Amino acid sequence: MVALQANYLEVELSEPAQAKRLLCTRRTRLAHQGANVHVGDQVWVEAIDWQQCRGVVCNVEPRKSWLERPPVANVTTVVVALALAEPSFDADQASRFLLTAEQTDLDVQVLLTKTDLISADALAERISALRAWDYQPLAVSAKTGEGLDQLMGKLQGSFLSVLCGPSGVGKSSILNRCLPELSLRVGALSSKLQRGRHTTRHVELFALEGGARVADTPGFNRPDLPADPRCLASLFPELRHQLDPYPCRFRNCLHLDEPGCGVERSWPRYAFYRQCLQEMRGLSRPYREG
Ligand code: GDP
Ligand code: ZN
Repeated sequence: MVALQANYLEVELSEPAQAKRLLCTRRTRLAHQGANVHVGDQVWVEAIDWQQCRGVVCNVEPRKSWLERPPVANVTTVVVALALAEPSFDADQASRFLLTAEQTDLDVQVLLTKTDLISADALAERISALRAWDYQPLAVSAKTGEGLDQLMGKLQGSFLSVLCGPSGVGKSSILNRCLPELSLRVGALSSKLQRGRHTTRHVELFALEGGARVADTPGFNRPDLPADPRCLASLFPELRHQLDPYPCRFRNCLHLDEPGCGVERSWPRYAFYRQCLQEMRGLSRPYREG
């Protein structure tokens, strides 16, 4: 299902026959079973009227993943867009977005934006800082088009991607360049429907060459820390990787000042990690460094 419009579900067919998209209602039995249908869901359609491009959704496949904000099923990649300039790069804010993205357990791709605004040296420095966080960032400019091919390659290799990040970093500009159909999408289907396009659209998925899809609405924009401090370490890839081959021998260790903890303290985001734990525990007194 690629879009929700008023009470209709817009479904793109995996094997397009006489139409590519159908406007569907859903079997009431689905609602009775408590099965919600969301954008990104794989659905079965019956009672197809090819002339009117209508159908009825009769079944929903089990979801492989679920993103709450925005509500999209079966997302495989969360792209976190962060501006190199205007607004200037803010490491703590970047980390907060990354922590939120990591909580989805999905593939997280860092996307540095507005490369046209900084020097090649400054870009190289930023990229190496992010590599030290164990990310492999892509860098693009929606203005010059730099890096958009690599971004398209990444998106095409992932079943369904959503873009998130602070406002003003260029997410809409990037989507507009990657999805030309966005700006000219008043199709045959909407004229048949006569309504729906005028109601609030939530999320819509757009197909890329090769069958992969991208959500046209940016994802979550308000980063939250997880509720459980013990979950925090796993949201830092560089710490996760450190813990993977040489697990700390304490099960509930927060890797702060516990004697005997095997995790080293020299990683770049260690101070930020401590700061998050402190915030999560609502402590008024800062931890002693060391
Ligand atoms: P969003 O809030 O993340 O969707 O950001 P927008 O796409 O609305 O862009 C915010 C502002 O940044 C707009 O004024 C854009 O023209 C500008 N902008 C977007 N991408 C670029 C870029 O690659 N280079 C430059 N110099 N400006 C950009
Ligand atoms: Zn430890």
